[in-house]
Amino acid sequence: MHKKVLVTTAWPYANGPLHLGHLAGSYLPADIFARYNRMIGNETLMVSGTDEHGTPISVQADKEGCPPKEIVDKYHKVIKRSLEDIGCSYNLFTRTTTDNHRKTAQEFFLTLSKNGYIYEKAMELFYCPKCRRFLPDRYVEGTCPKCGAEEARGDQCDACGRTLESTELVNPRCKHCESAPEIRERTHYFFKLSAFQDRLIKWIDSKKDIWRSNVYQFTINWLKEGLKDRPITRDLEWGVSVPIKGAEDKVLYVWFEAVIGYISATKEYFINKGDPDGWVEWWKSPDTETYYFIGKDNIPFHTIIWPAMLLGHGGLNLPTNVPANEFLNLEGGKFSTSRGYAVWLNEYLEHFDPDPLRYCLSINMPESKDADFSWDEFQRRNNEELVSTLGNFAHRVLTFIGRFYDGAIPEPGTLGQRDKSVMEEISATVDIVGMHIQNCEFKKAMAGVMGLASLGNQYFNEKAPWKADKNAGASTLYVSACIVKALSILMVPFLPFSAQKLWNMLGYGDSVHEQQWHSAKEPVKFQSIKDVTPLFKMLEDEDIAEQKAKLESIK
Ligand SMILES: [Zn+2]
Ligand SMILES: [Zn+2]
Repeated sequence: MHKKVLVTTAWPYANGPLHLGHLAGSYLPADIFARYNRMIGNETLMVSGTDEHGTPISVQADKEGCPPKEIVDKYHKVIKRSLEDIGCSYNLFTRTTTDNHRKTAQEFFLTLSKNGYIYEKAMELFYCPKCRRFLPDRYVEGTCPKCGAEEARGDQCDACGRTLESTELVNPRCKHCESAPEIRERTHYFFKLSAFQDRLIKWIDSKKDIWRSNVYQFTINWLKEGLKDRPITRDLEWGVSVPIKGAEDKVLYVWFEAVIGYISATKEYFINKGDPDGWVEWWKSPDTETYYFIGKDNIPFHTIIWPAMLLGHGGLNLPTNVPANEFLNLEGGKFSTSRGYAVWLNEYLEHFDPDPLRYCLSINMPESKDADFSWDEFQRRNNEELVSTLGNFAHRVLTFIGRFYDGAIPEPGTLGQRDKSVMEEISATVDIVGMHIQNCEFKKAMAGVMGLASLGNQYFNEKAPWKADKNAGASTLYVSACIVKALSILMVPFLPFSAQKLWNMLGYGDSVHEQQWHSAKEPVKFQSIKDVTPLFKMLEDEDIAEQKAKLESIK
């Protein structure tokens, strides 16, 4: 049965380029999942965009000495371009500074208010007398009251992952001028999160055996600590203004407003298609499944706060799954945007092809525990696995056909036991890899594809068609070409660029992306192969040394 599948990803802040940690955490797994779902015939929509409000933007604008609008225009372009170039197949990649998003977020606020889940309350806020302004959470730093880490921000502690109220920080200081802020009282709007405690626990319980255990555990622990109402407005100029008379000088808190982007992006996609009501089914129909691909630092917003907002609004689908990834580290250290200790996606793409990176991050995805990216490992996996296993197998088979069978995939003679078992193995791999992707087990899925390439090499060596007569060899070449065909289809979600190249070399003239997943089981056509070239390039030591040196200089 075909269904609708809405695939969403974290909204990157438009205050800098993306790095590999972002890609591995959210965008790549989402893209693999979306591409696969399209191939099994599910109506699939992948949407997201840049988060352009919020204090990280203002912080960057202060740093670069320009208005926030300039910052977000600049980085939206950079981010969007990198995501396209790495092959992320968004149906729409928008931004939160559109009129459509502003209106959608304001309407959402008003509906929650009408339903009784928003109220006004005076709260104590940090005010920096030296900077003469109220300090948003991210402008305050101090010691985490829960775990004692010293570099906690006012909204969240990166060390223990908990969200915080800035006034909970021990030894708070203004991020701007380092002086100790004072506390002043202001009235703000609050979201009645506490009202959803029981409903959320019941809902989360139904996900116990479906969600990743780290996501489930984190969420249930949080819920057991008890939910507190949360302020959803701020004293800032940059943001979506509060749609209430007399409160227009406040803006919606970015964590509240950005998640509504999932809905506004869906709307925008259908508005662009001339079908302004088209989004409704994608949010209200029980036949639509919704997936949120995010990093672990975003878990509470997607498993607690956003579901509570959806429940409070009413009539909207709750998340089907939130397959949050753990963190990717870099050469044994943590990515640090502020220190510039990162491999930036746009810079990577200036030097290397997209697929080798997609491969390395898939086969080593931080799914259930943190993973590490190192340039040596990247080179090794590229040279030994992509070039020597996958690329080499395809190349051997195709060049052999080119040389000894007039460049046309031969019809087989009678298939022997081994030939038949290999054909069965192709079929089984198609099912297993598909199942792993459906379960968001991308490492295992990628390994399954490589396993089939290894089997191909092994089979080709065993059969040694160069020793066999031409007729016996024809069966071997035919079965091998069936493996190559299956590989080119199974590669699509992971290695979309190389998949197309390989498909064309097999003599197919159409797009491999239009093929059904299960057609990988069908035998290859007896057709002429075309323009056979190596699928992947060896990476030389000097290419890698240059990249390593760049990181060493920052470390
Ligand atoms: Zn902490
Ligand atoms: Zn200050």
